[in-house]
Amino acid sequence: MRRKMVVGNWKMHGSLVQNESLLSALKSGAAQLSHVDIAVCAPFPYLAQLQQQLSASSVKWGAQDVHQLEKGAFTGEVSAAMLADFGCTYVIVGHSERRSIYGEDSRLVAEKFSAAQQAGLIPILCVGETLQQRESGETEAVVAEQLDAVIALVGVQALRKAVVAYEPVWAIGTGKTASPDQAQSVHAFIRQRVAGHDEQVAQGLVILYGGSVKAANAPELFAKADIDGGLIGGAALVAEEFLGICRAG
Ligand code: PGA
Repeated sequence: MRRKMVVGNWKMHGSLVQNESLLSALKSGAAQLSHVDIAVCAPFPYLAQLQQQLSASSVKWGAQDVHQLEKGAFTGEVSAAMLADFGCTYVIVGHSERRSIYGEDSRLVAEKFSAAQQAGLIPILCVGETLQQRESGETEAVVAEQLDAVIALVGVQALRKAVVAYEPVWAIGTGKTASPDQAQSVHAFIRQRVAGHDEQVAQGLVILYGGSVKAANAPELFAKADIDGGLIGGAALVAEEFLGICRAG
């Protein structure tokens, strides 16, 4: 049985003061929610704050990106070992905003995935199609290419210590959630594709849905057979909303 999981992706939001109250609310709310794994992925400068505020709680934390190499002359970049130093459990790789705004391709995302695992972090690999790709019937091909690049680089067994997040680009921050059936169909496709390599890895793989998840629509989404929880953007910034989603887990 896979455990349900809910991860907040704060994106470029927050401040020391705002985070302090959000985290203390999450910490106490999460204490009542032992059936679901909860994590927040914050901007780099706040990782020390997360480590300080969340260490004694069940809420785990992580970052939203990582460099693919161990160290070196890469001004402005952050390595996986640095994230591990701040107690991160997770790191998001290949978020669609990184792919589209910063031109990250699937090969680079796979390298980031690998770097994260080498430092002992659990990568949360984001995959998903744009509206145009969906409308031209390319959803499965796009998701397959994004997933296959990782399997090709690190092997399917690496997915035992990873999470996949299906995030249709057209549903992110738009208020347009994929219907539970639309999401389930892509989640089932991802699981089948992994099962083509290893059935046991596929059955154990946690696949999150992301894209305009709210407390109101989470129960229906999370009830689907292959939807194991959510990767939450906007709604992760409001404690009651995020905890409401966690309760649906
Ligand atoms: P959203 O973002 O919940 O605001 O749509 C999800 C994400 O980008 O991870």
